[in-house]
Amino acid sequence: MESNRRGTVSAEYHGQMDSDIDRILLHRTRIAERIQTLASEIATVYEDLDQGLTLVPILSGSIIFLADLMRELPMKMKIALVHLSAYPGRATAPSEARTVLDLVGDVRGRNVLLVDDILDTGGTLRRAQQMILEREPADLRTAVLLRKLAKAPSDVTVDFVGFDIDDLFVVGYGLDFDDHYRNYPHIGVLRAEMMR
Ligand code: IMP
Ligand code: MG
Repeated sequence: MESNRRGTVSAEYHGQMDSDIDRILLHRTRIAERIQTLASEIATVYEDLDQGLTLVPILSGSIIFLADLMRELPMKMKIALVHLSAYPGRATAPSEARTVLDLVGDVRGRNVLLVDDILDTGGTLRRAQQMILEREPADLRTAVLLRKLAKAPSDVTVDFVGFDIDDLFVVGYGLDFDDHYRNYPHIGVLRAEMMR
């Protein structure tokens, strides 16, 4: 029994979502471990921070990664937000990244760390990096949780990568299909029939 009548839910029970997932690619515990080591790599690079650090998460896919990563980082930081969308609605192949919300926050003259969930064809990060560079930060680095290595273009630089994965459509841990599954705590492969 995974959920009782009073609504207590076990950590491994995700109701309707479990049956939509074909297989778990990265379990939440593995993600949590990797984020700890990734945060120490990032903290080392910013040890002698010149200017203040500003994290720029790309909404919406990066929100869970951002929340976990930033709490593992020891330095003072600000957040600036930008919302880009490359996979609107039920899309499982990218279109050109559309600006939903322009960059808001303190970026000029600061050390900026751009944070996204996944590097796929690179259109989203290319666009976000341009938007930040136009505002003349002190420097710009980029962290992604996932990278589809087979597709990632050579002209989009990422400094920190959580995991390299195969070219699969994945959901969970912030990643969505039709805006669902962002709250699924693992990263999983969606059953093919769900995407039809
Ligand atoms: P790119 O612009 O092709 O690099 O795609 C990056 C954006 O598309 C990411 O910020 C994600 O929001 C979304 N995306 C790319 N691959 C996936 C996936 O496998 N599942 C869910 N969203 C994805
Ligand atoms: Mg995204």
